[in-house]
Amino acid sequence: MSFKENVSFLNWDSIKESIYSKTSADVRRALSKSKRDLEDFKAMISPAAEPFLEEMAQLSHQITQKRFGKTIQMYIPLYLSNECQNICTYCGFSLDVKIPRITLSDEQILAEAEVIKKMGYDHVLLVTGEANRTVGVEYFKNAIKLLKPHFSHIAIEVQPLEEDEYKELIEEGLNTVLVYQETYNKEHYKIHHPKGRKSNYDYRIDTHDRLGRAGIHKMGVGVLFGLEDWRTDTYFCAEHLTYLEKTYWQTKYSLSFPRLRPCASGIELKSIMSDKELVQLICAYRIYNEEVELSMSTRESESFRNNIIKLGITSISADSKTDPGGYANPKENLEQFEIDDARSTEEFVEVIKKQGYEPVFKDWDHALQ
Ligand code: SF4
Repeated sequence: MSFKENVSFLNWDSIKESIYSKTSADVRRALSKSKRDLEDFKAMISPAAEPFLEEMAQLSHQITQKRFGKTIQMYIPLYLSNECQNICTYCGFSLDVKIPRITLSDEQILAEAEVIKKMGYDHVLLVTGEANRTVGVEYFKNAIKLLKPHFSHIAIEVQPLEEDEYKELIEEGLNTVLVYQETYNKEHYKIHHPKGRKSNYDYRIDTHDRLGRAGIHKMGVGVLFGLEDWRTDTYFCAEHLTYLEKTYWQTKYSLSFPRLRPCASGIELKSIMSDKELVQLICAYRIYNEEVELSMSTRESESFRNNIIKLGITSISADSKTDPGGYANPKENLEQFEIDDARSTEEFVEVIKKQGYEPVFKDWDHALQ
């Protein structure tokens, strides 16, 4: 049974009620265990866990340091295209947002790569909108072929693809695929994704199963916080992650924590997640799952990112541009969303080092596989 079938047995309202009815005793029990289950995860993300934040932060710090050491993996996004055939209510690349559309040529991709390499990065995340005709599998294959000689780790965050298409990209040198469900609330998913292929909830939620069958090295899951009740949404995501780890145990996993940022679509947030709540969530995931990579982008503020380094995050971006061509040729008003932490790589690396951590730009090589 794939997760698409599993999720149909999960009831949003009863899960929400169960999370909000957790007590201090449930949280204490969860924190005292050595191996935790999804009921413990519910307790740790519940409002009842808020007074335990300090304890959770210390535990999360210890577990992360034991498993990952004092290292932070550095990566950078490379936006290849802002063309998109979908309407998403929260995105600056949405089809109904009037911005100039750009898809990078081979020369432009290599120009971006040159700037990024000079900044020291070796892990690159290729990002596009979802425009199958202009940025489809052939475009991705070509981009990976161009970039593979320059980067040891290539990840993509693009439209969901078929299993065979993923296999083709893996053969070309693709290492990681990030696909976020945005919200697991099936009823409301359609409101946030009214037009285009992304409006198909079932196809999107089935993507990680296709990736698992294709044999991807690492895949990422996540929720876009702000669309629906964050506690319930993230619980569904934890169910998804748990299912995937059991089913595709040879694959590695990554989790991201994007909170909605202002963008050209001008969406109003339905659920606001505070900084404290985001810390609670990151710690809850780490305490629940010692192996998963926890990743953070430049959507968050300088002070938040400074403080989160020790609390469970293991992978982080810096100095990011979210407009295609933005490294070699910066332009205004083409971003997918506004970034909050605009510090240079050097500045951010100093922050990491001052906290006694080592920023890692390269952690593996194909030659060692
Ligand atoms: S979130 Fe993705 S699919 Fe939706 S409009 Fe933005 S780029 Fe397109």
